[in-house]
Amino acid sequence: MQPRDLSDHVAYEAGRGIEEVARELDRDPSEFVKLASNENPHGPSPAAAVAVREAASSVNSYPKAAHADLTSAVADRWDVTDGQVWLANGGDGAIDYLHRAVIEPGDTVLVPSPGFAYYGMSSRYHHGDVREYDLSKADDFVQDADTVLEAYDGDRIVFLTSPHNPTGSTIPLADVERLAEATDDETLLVVDEAYGEFADRDSAVALLEGRDGFDARDDVAVLRTFSKAYGLAGVRLGYAVVPDEWADAYARVNTPFAASELACRAGLAAIDDDEHVERTVGTARESRAYMREHIDSHVWESEGNFVLVEAGDAAAVAEEMQRRGVIVRDCSSFGLPGCIRITCGTEAETERAVETLNAVLADLDVDPETADDPDAEVADT
Ligand SMILES: *Cc1c(COP(=O)(O)O)cnc(C)c1O
Repeated sequence: MQPRDLSDHVAYEAGRGIEEVARELDRDPSEFVKLASNENPHGPSPAAAVAVREAASSVNSYPKAAHADLTSAVADRWDVTDGQVWLANGGDGAIDYLHRAVIEPGDTVLVPSPGFAYYGMSSRYHHGDVREYDLSKADDFVQDADTVLEAYDGDRIVFLTSPHNPTGSTIPLADVERLAEATDDETLLVVDEAYGEFADRDSAVALLEGRDGFDARDDVAVLRTFSKAYGLAGVRLGYAVVPDEWADAYARVNTPFAASELACRAGLAAIDDDEHVERTVGTARESRAYMREHIDSHVWESEGNFVLVEAGDAAAVAEEMQRRGVIVRDCSSFGLPGCIRITCGTEAETERAVETLNAVLADLDVDPETADDPDAEVADT
């Protein structure tokens, strides 16, 4: 027999790892830096690393207490009820849970293009149909309510990414509110704040809770992750903050013990380690400013821990940079050919990335003014 018809489904393309690239090129892993997956260049919170080691001897038990404790800690952090916190196997797992809770077969889901591929992948697994709204390269991928409403057609879920991956743009909370007002009562707005810690923006949790002058809403959910600012990508831990009215749904849709004992213990330690997050955010801010100033091609303003760079033949640029030891992300898989995305590294990593990229751009003769990919132009109009 065969699985169901998966011809509409695509595999997730992750940034390439150092081991994988080093093996392929028959080189030593220590020659490479990886700035392709928006990981934390300072590693995990040291407290989380200790917690994982200490938890190792108790992984024979299901994570009942740890799961409940982390749920409470996250709820405290946002000043919401425990039922509003849906822990998951990464932010990606939380995307799955929101689909499970909301989508009926044939419902449509509206996602940004360019954008994070997993929204659409998860929609399709859950028998939803995917539609797209365009963020325009010519307008620096600006995000506002009108851009989304132009494409909106009664969709059941609308995904917003703020800061947006891979462009770094954000959407003001006033626009999120306007969008929530303008869309149907039965449309859920998911505000993906995977990079929220790096941005000078307030969280959309204010909309759920009716804070900061907003009216409380039951049609917005916020996505957060421990993978980026907290440096815990490897344990897979993220969550959704949902309206209070939704609290009951989690137990009906989640995979039992959605986050593992190791993940919960790591999360509990990391959530109190403000120093590590502050250091990480500080490094990202310096790195993205440095890249904007020193890269010899257009670099978009970014509120994330990465920047988007105009690169002409991005696949060739990424490949040549990799050959020279710096792994970056060709953005074709995001629906954005002609650009590369570079994760903010440490000072030394950032300087090396800039130096390498500038040399590659010069050697490949990429003209920063005319680097526009023709396909991207068509997509914009
Ligand atoms: C990284 C990321 C996530 C979540 O990643 P997890 O590792 O699954 O927590 C969600 N959305 C965007 C846009 C991301 O870049």
